[in-house]
Amino acid sequence: EDKVRDFSEGRLDCLIGAAKPYGVLVRGIDLPKRIRYVIFYGVPKFEITLRDVNEMEDASIISLFSSLSRALGNEERKLAIKLRRNPSSDDIRRARQIIEDILKDEEKISSISSLTDIIIDARGRKIVIPDIRTYLQGSGRTSRLYPGGITRGASLIWDEDPILTSFIKRARAQEIDFLQLSEVDLEKLKSEIDESRRLISSLKKGYELANLLKTALFIVESPSKARTIASFFGRPSRRFLDGLMAYEVTTGDYVLTIVASGGHIVDLTTTVGYHGVLIEDGTYVPAYTSIKRCNACGHQFTDADRCPRCGSTDLRDSKSVVESLRRLSFEASRVIIGTDPDTEGEKIAWDIYQLIMDSSNEIYRAEFHEVTKRAIVEALRSLRGINDRMVKAQIVRRVEDRWIGFELSAEVQKRFGKRNLSAGRAQTPVLGWVIDRYREHQNKKVVSIIKGDGLLLRLDGKLEEVGASKIWIKELKVEEEVVKPPPPFTTDAMIGEANRILRMSANMTMQLAQFLFETGLITYHRTDSPRVSDAGFRVASLVLGDDFVPRKWGEGGAHECIRPTKPLSAKELVDYVKEGIMIVEGLSRDHIRLYDLIFRRFIASQSKDGTLVKQVASVRVGRSEFEVTRLIEARGGWIDWYPFLYTPEPRLKEGVLDVVIEHQTVPSAPLYTQSNLVALMKERGIGRPSTYATIVEKILQRGYVIERNQKLIPTKLGIEVYNFLRDRFPDLISEERTRTLERKMDSVEEGVADYQALIDELYNEIREKMGKLAAD
Ligand SMILES: [Zn+2]
Repeated sequence: EDKVRDFSEGRLDCLIGAAKPYGVLVRGIDLPKRIRYVIFYGVPKFEITLRDVNEMEDASIISLFSSLSRALGNEERKLAIKLRRNPSSDDIRRARQIIEDILKDEEKISSISSLTDIIIDARGRKIVIPDIRTYLQGSGRTSRLYPGGITRGASLIWDEDPILTSFIKRARAQEIDFLQLSEVDLEKLKSEIDESRRLISSLKKGYELANLLKTALFIVESPSKARTIASFFGRPSRRFLDGLMAYEVTTGDYVLTIVASGGHIVDLTTTVGYHGVLIEDGTYVPAYTSIKRCNACGHQFTDADRCPRCGSTDLRDSKSVVESLRRLSFEASRVIIGTDPDTEGEKIAWDIYQLIMDSSNEIYRAEFHEVTKRAIVEALRSLRGINDRMVKAQIVRRVEDRWIGFELSAEVQKRFGKRNLSAGRAQTPVLGWVIDRYREHQNKKVVSIIKGDGLLLRLDGKLEEVGASKIWIKELKVEEEVVKPPPPFTTDAMIGEANRILRMSANMTMQLAQFLFETGLITYHRTDSPRVSDAGFRVASLVLGDDFVPRKWGEGGAHECIRPTKPLSAKELVDYVKEGIMIVEGLSRDHIRLYDLIFRRFIASQSKDGTLVKQVASVRVGRSEFEVTRLIEARGGWIDWYPFLYTPEPRLKEGVLDVVIEHQTVPSAPLYTQSNLVALMKERGIGRPSTYATIVEKILQRGYVIERNQKLIPTKLGIEVYNFLRDRFPDLISEERTRTLERKMDSVEEGVADYQALIDELYNEIREKMGKLAAD
């Protein structure tokens, strides 16, 4: 204590001690004015031998056990979680005992050493684990919050591999980056550090705090996004306001209160105008009302006092959310809206803006495409206003959906005497594709199968006679082909590949991706741009090292591909979550599977070219002679990361072989899968990243199409509804009309087309087509 006082008062220049978890030097002193540099001689680490375990403090036991737990069984992992939250002395005793048992057992030690970043001393019986928490606490002594910002400091680490590499890798999971000393401009750094100390000293008591640290209300849609953002800025304090969870953190620029609006807060009403749109002097004015959510069944609706689905009166009205947001914005000096970066997110932002604008003088929009600390800090520093064009595009989209949906659905319901039937501009042509393909599938064709000792050939048409025969095979050549990687995922490709490889539905994939985005693990998942940003290049180069080949895949715009935000493989992600280095609540096995696919695809897109090896052989059966080309190997470069595009077959052996020839009747075309449908939508310009999954889900939900073994089959109802719509409203639901309309809505977003003119066009079109019907 004396030494610390001497240091604090300037009689000592430095303090030297041990960087232990919860030790005095890393936790016990808070002297931002004095502490400028932290030097770690050796990375903070746990070094444990059997003898140490008895003497270790409880806190160290907890940290160590957390790190080890991922190499242990389920029970131990549960214990680790309990230890981090609310440990009893019994729990700690148990953990200590388990660690002792491990150190006594060579086999257990070596099973732990198979984990990449836990290092076992060569002489054995000693475990070394990098200790990120202690590093964070220790280095944090130099950069403390004060009114006006965060003090600048420098933290230097001196150590060697393998522990250093292992340490840096773990640190990256927490968005901590390191530079080689040679890359640092030491003079510049020193003057910045001194400057920020001068700033604190110059702060006089009683200085207006408000001038230095603004209070801001940060509104996002989802609770998990709010929680993730709050976690970037130290330990947030929480409070409840009328059912809204609010997090309070300090960012250096702001005292930030983060809340979630819970998605849309208003929707078109059904009670006034033409299905919720008033027409006043030739201007179309959409009329909105609050959204009610049924607490009993989760159904969302407007304009009713009881749930239309289950009849419950236990409802939550979004009015109460608006009330809470208004109250909170009164308290803050500015409001920042951080909804998702697309037209739907922009519309939610605009709704919030309209509803709270009389309770705040400063309302801004923050746009970010990944929920990482870097992206959030950047977004908070480059605030903008609400983008009108995006809002207008979304208004047209919603009005169009409402009008055509209500009008056509009413017709379908009347004709088929059933509620819960619907029709829409995009879903109807898509339903048509499924039906057409089903008809093609029913047409048969003949194929010949040649089977023999380890050989299977499949050829179109009737080849030779059925029965026993001989085959002559002669290899003509084996050639190699260099292949470039596929681009990283856009929404359509992600849905397609997750369906094909992981057997996930379009809807499920989008829900899983939404979670991965909100918890900061991937970039925004609704995108049609394959572009890779500089942040993406960094991730790839950290994973690939010398094998990194930067490939941009597109230019311009803020949008980019779907990619991981951190250089972590799925396995590393799981390890770090188990160990408690990263906290992601609610991460399931399916989230990990999708993350793995996204990670692999992205890393592949930044890798070296791969190689395909093909065998060309001449084959003779009876009097028929033909050439066969088969892929016998796919390897190297990106293919090692993303092997799912090829299925190599065994190389054909030369010589004469006894075979059996069969003729089979098979469908002339395979049925569509969800993957095929989304690819077609993208190709033909029907649907957008925000609607692909919804369209597929609609035709399944309405019972127009069923799915069997991933294959889509139209139902009798589906075929009848489709035929009815096609005969009665051919222009409204034609593929061409839908495509044109999608393009027009895009041009509203681009600011090229006027949204009122487009709504007017839609109004006249629908009235004419429907009115004509009534007159018939
Ligand atoms: Zn209900």
